[in-house]
Amino acid sequence: MRSLKIAFVLIALPAAVLIYWSISSNEEALAEADQTATAWKCADCEHEFDLTAKAATMELARAGGTMPLHCPACKKKEAYRVSTCLVCETKYFSTDVPGGTGMCPKCYPTSPEKDEENELPEKNDPDYDPPPPSV
Ligand SMILES: [Zn+2]
Ligand SMILES: [Zn+2]
Repeated sequence: MRSLKIAFVLIALPAAVLIYWSISSNEEALAEADQTATAWKCADCEHEFDLTAKAATMELARAGGTMPLHCPACKKKEAYRVSTCLVCETKYFSTDVPGGTGMCPKCYPTSPEKDEENELPEKNDPDYDPPPPSV
């Protein structure tokens, strides 16, 4: 039975190390994965880019711990977090950004067309007077 015990140690120990290694490397990979990426946009040049959670933390530290972050395109400190519209996937600024509406500019234009102007008389309306027949 002694040889069996040795065999168990020889197999189990490297397996445990392997499992530990794969778990820890998975966590690292997860931090770099796209799922943790957030969308950002420069308010100055409108450059859109993604930052992983790790990169965002580093950028925030580089920005002095306050928003906005530095834009990788124009290098200005004008990059804010953006939300993505679930309907048309347009990226837009939230309300905590100066000038941000918090709504998709395509689905919710800032100057919506007035619906009141479309009040035309309907022919089914009992009060509707038909135009006099031309003789
Ligand atoms: Zn920029
Ligand atoms: Zn939209």
